[in-house]
Amino acid sequence: MPRLAEPTAVQPVESAMVPRLFRLVDRRQDTADTFTIVLEPNDGVPLAFIPGQFTMLSAFGVGEVPISVSGDAHVAGPLQHTVRDVGAVTHALARTAVGDVMGVRGPYGTGWDVADGHSRDVVFVGGGIGLAPLRPAVLEVLAHREDYGRVVLLYGARSPEELLFVDEMKQWEDQGMEVLVTVDYGRESWQGRVGLVTKLIPRAGFDPMSTLALICGPEVMMRHTALALVGRGVRSNRIRVSLERNMRCGVGLCGHCQYRELFVCVDGPVLPYAQVTGLLGLREV
Ligand SMILES: Cc1cc2nc3c(=O)[nH]c(=O)nc-3n(C[C@H](O)[C@H](O)[C@H](O)COP(=O)(O)OP(=O)(O)OC[C@H]3O[C@@H](n4cnc5c(N)ncnc54)[C@H](O)[C@@H]3O)c2cc1C
Repeated sequence: MPRLAEPTAVQPVESAMVPRLFRLVDRRQDTADTFTIVLEPNDGVPLAFIPGQFTMLSAFGVGEVPISVSGDAHVAGPLQHTVRDVGAVTHALARTAVGDVMGVRGPYGTGWDVADGHSRDVVFVGGGIGLAPLRPAVLEVLAHREDYGRVVLLYGARSPEELLFVDEMKQWEDQGMEVLVTVDYGRESWQGRVGLVTKLIPRAGFDPMSTLALICGPEVMMRHTALALVGRGVRSNRIRVSLERNMRCGVGLCGHCQYRELFVCVDGPVLPYAQVTGLLGLREV
């Protein structure tokens, strides 16, 4: 089965399961329940990744969770993850303070492979926290803006308070990206659009026949977005989605994230929509 991008390094199983130690050097509260952590490796060796890959982050004594890298893949610097506090481990990560040490395994999985969109239009569609795994791909495209046609971001969140990277999106616009934002519910003070992110698709300026579309968000949103893009004429094999499944090992051993022949941790998380149409929206057992 073809992979969009090979994982950067194939580690022996024993070392793949041993976390490296990283120190929290900065943290930012993005929204009420979402925060960004900035980590430096204790051994001084930076962790190289490709946009779309994830790491297994461990809060010692609590557990380990897969979290996509949200930082810039092409700027040497600390490792960034943007995390929504939803349960035991993410809550423990939310309580960490500068100087605390946590475990990091990886990076794992496939990437967005934005170079495949060279000379074409690129459409990013994010839902809620889904903009965080897309951010490294956005930064890569904007760093090589001249290699692409039109570049569009369609972003939706439940409310204005839950929008991520709001200030940065203005810089992205200045760098030649069309940014359209919508929320499901806005108070009277909200001047922007209200409605589902799929409603933005007919408004955005891109050539469907020459478009690479990258989608990340809740599965129901990814399914409807992919269908709307196909409806506008984007080929389904030019649409990629990033899947979330319960994961334990991250390296294709334990089978927690298996769906038919796919191990989402190694064959994904980024997969062609055409390959997972039957999987999107299925409940996990
Ligand atoms: C490849 C991959 C990349 C991911 N990237 C990110 C990321 O960049 N940022 C981020 O915040 N999260 C990301 N996630 C999701 C993250 O791994 C989960 O939110 C986390 O595992 C929850 O663990 P927990 O112990 O905090 O919660 P748990 O105690 O396991 O769960 C608590 C509650 O949260 C619900 N829950 C569990 N998993 C999810 C989920 N995936 N989404 C929504 N609700 C959930 C459970 O149903 C339960 O109600 C990613 C997942 C995968 C597979």
